[in-house]
Amino acid sequence: MEQGAGGEVRARLEEVRRRIAAAARAAGRDPGSITLVAVSKAQPRERIEAALEAGQRVFGENYVQEAQARWPALRARFPDVELHLVGALQTNKARAAVAFFDVIQTLDRPKLAHVLAKELARPEARTRRLLVEVNLAEEPQKAGVAPGDLDPFLRLCREELRLPVHGLMAIPPADEDVAPYAALLAKLAARHDLPEVSIGMSADFETAIAFGATIVRIGTAIFGERPPRAPTPQGSLETSS
Ligand SMILES: *Cc1c(COP(=O)(O)O)cnc(C)c1O
Repeated sequence: MEQGAGGEVRARLEEVRRRIAAAARAAGRDPGSITLVAVSKAQPRERIEAALEAGQRVFGENYVQEAQARWPALRARFPDVELHLVGALQTNKARAAVAFFDVIQTLDRPKLAHVLAKELARPEARTRRLLVEVNLAEEPQKAGVAPGDLDPFLRLCREELRLPVHGLMAIPPADEDVAPYAALLAKLAARHDLPEVSIGMSADFETAIAFGATIVRIGTAIFGERPPRAPTPQGSLETSS
């Protein structure tokens, strides 16, 4: 059972890598310039181990606590793992997140920028790169900086707070073509001289690459469907990281 699951993850991972490389080549881009972040939220540990054993080293997690519960042991075995936080970050978890994640992709508001500036100055800080999350379609329920607010927000982050912002990240509206959103995110990143464009998930990563993604965040296409989450005490895990 476990061996089978491991083989399945390995095969899916190889297929995703092949599709990423093909999409990059079709767009006239170097496949090596695309970073695959394997999003392992809510996935059983055996599947994560299978991906590690298949050579995957960059992983994304959505919840600080969930990542803290399982990655220290895995990092001890695979010290070159790079962990990205791709879920919303509450300011009261910023210290823990900065001590734990190599990359935080969800810098999305001025208050968090100020808190991260303080936490990144601590000797325990591990985070080296940040991405600014953009709410491309200005969906009211979604986190992220509105495109129209991006200039002043980036000025605050880069010039005033000297934060290591390396790119932009977006979660476009579900069930819509990712193409125009990827193109817009890439355009905004280029305008601000930011090298990284994080957009594209299991259902649409090839299109995202065709339109400028440099980082794709892929969960189910690698690991399979996420098992339903165990019920959690109200608000403790689902909404807060
Ligand atoms: C879960 C998640 C993903 C991966 O989604 P899949 O559809 O499983 O590939 C990517 N990005 C973010 C922010 C996520 O929360």
